[in-house]
Amino acid sequence: MIQIGMPSTDLVDDTLAKRYPGLAALEKAIQRDLHILDYPRHEWVASREASDGKPIYDVLIIGGGQSGLTAAFYLMRERVTNIMVIDENPEGLEGPWRTFARMHTLRTPKHLIGPDIGIPNLSIRSWYEAKYGDGAWDNMVFVPKHEWADYLTWYRRFLRIPVQNQVRAGAIEWLPAENCFVIPVNRPLGIDVLYARKVVLATGIDGSGKWDIPKDVRGNLAKGLYAHTREDIDFEKLRGKKIGVLGAGASAFDNASVALEHGAGEVHMFFRRKELVRVNPYRWAEFVGFLKHHGDLPDAERWRFINQILRAGQLPPADTYKRATEFPNFTMHPGTPWSKVEQVGQQARVTTPNGVFDFDYLLIGTGFRTDLSLRRELQKIHPYIRKWSDVYTPPVGEENADLGNHPYLAGDFSFLEKNPGEAPWLGGIFNFTFGCLASLGFGGASISGMKYSLPRMVGGITRQFYLEDTDRYFRALCDYNIPDF
Ligand SMILES: Cc1cc2nc3c(=O)[nH]c(=O)nc-3n(C[C@H](O)[C@H](O)[C@H](O)COP(=O)(O)OP(=O)(O)OC[C@H]3O[C@@H](n4cnc5c(N)ncnc54)[C@H](O)[C@@H]3O)c2cc1C
Repeated sequence: MIQIGMPSTDLVDDTLAKRYPGLAALEKAIQRDLHILDYPRHEWVASREASDGKPIYDVLIIGGGQSGLTAAFYLMRERVTNIMVIDENPEGLEGPWRTFARMHTLRTPKHLIGPDIGIPNLSIRSWYEAKYGDGAWDNMVFVPKHEWADYLTWYRRFLRIPVQNQVRAGAIEWLPAENCFVIPVNRPLGIDVLYARKVVLATGIDGSGKWDIPKDVRGNLAKGLYAHTREDIDFEKLRGKKIGVLGAGASAFDNASVALEHGAGEVHMFFRRKELVRVNPYRWAEFVGFLKHHGDLPDAERWRFINQILRAGQLPPADTYKRATEFPNFTMHPGTPWSKVEQVGQQARVTTPNGVFDFDYLLIGTGFRTDLSLRRELQKIHPYIRKWSDVYTPPVGEENADLGNHPYLAGDFSFLEKNPGEAPWLGGIFNFTFGCLASLGFGGASISGMKYSLPRMVGGITRQFYLEDTDRYFRALCDYNIPDF
């Protein structure tokens, strides 16, 4: 009998287990752990059906990456099992790890935990050691990104997390008649709708906005002359070419390195700052106070901490910096913003205060911007969502337009209404993307914050179910008559 929340008893992927016998033993150990920790054991959320006979999920999770999978398993452990995860990508291609993440290893230290939800045998370390043997972990500096992706694939299959791939969510809407949300979805075979009482947006680091290409670039150049680092890029085509890179964060360096490794003729990197950022405030933030309690601070405090972290800027990890700077044909141009970009023949001409440069191709490493109105999932509801710019005016010197676009979330990651009473159902949607930064620090879309963000969000979801159905529970209490003897 398949029991949700309990892993499969047969080996998940016997080819994997055949190749790595230690995994079979690990899976047995986890089954034992989960059985020991299996309390309370009663299903408790009453599932419902829509009037068209379709199931109403208790929770629909949009996004099958690390955040969506871990949130799903955490819910399953809390006996919220009528759930579904959907992801627009084919299985195994969720998130950036096997597609546009072009680094060799994770950027965060290997000891960060999260998906394990406090069960040591479920951690990336136990999985890695089961796969490669004792000592393998100690010999490793950073987790290779493909190992992280493989771990997430194993995690999903072993824990039997219900995921539908190649399903893209459209504009979420509240259905008063059904007292639930309706989510139109695109499937390979056509349009469909899903119903859910609660929705978790685990749509990624750009899940509260969009990967950003400066207007000057997308407005003045043919598409064939540039790509954002988030895009599929044919690096072979850059062999022998002169490449311009905008930005000096981790992804800008990763993509510059891949272009150099594919034989690009010259790679020039441009950034506004006079010097490359070398200090990472995200490392400073990895302590209980910030990770667990940023959300408990008053508005002014939350704003100034996050504003300071963002102001410090992004930097490449040391190995990524070394990877690019080892190439003699790699040049950095600090303090050199792009003032104009135009197309001249088949080239991109970039004008800067320090000269004019012609390039065969541009790599845009400018990250993403926050703007809820750009999310297809939020097309019909973003006007109701409270944002920081609606409630907080920063003091002079702390202005930050992008931070003002962050949703002003409740302590459990749920949306709050811009105008109370206009959309009381809005609190049933949980934003577990990077857009939670101002409100709750490192919540969604980062490994660093998972340990503390998941209990906060899942606690908020279970709280809503219990408070919404209190009458039903009281009736169940009054009707409870199973004698002890
Ligand atoms: C290149 C790169 C490297 C990073 N390296 C690290 C690191 O080393 N350490 C760290 O802690 N963090 C890192 N991060 C940050 C963060 O951990 C990752 O972005 C991580 O992928 C976030 O996990 P997630 O599950 O929240 O989102 P994702 O892994 O991005 O998964 C979200 C999924 O939702 C899907 N989706 C979005 N919208 C819809 C929709 N409407 N319908 C259906 N599916 C949808 C997306 O296609 C995607 O598959 C990195 C980010 C990037 C981009």
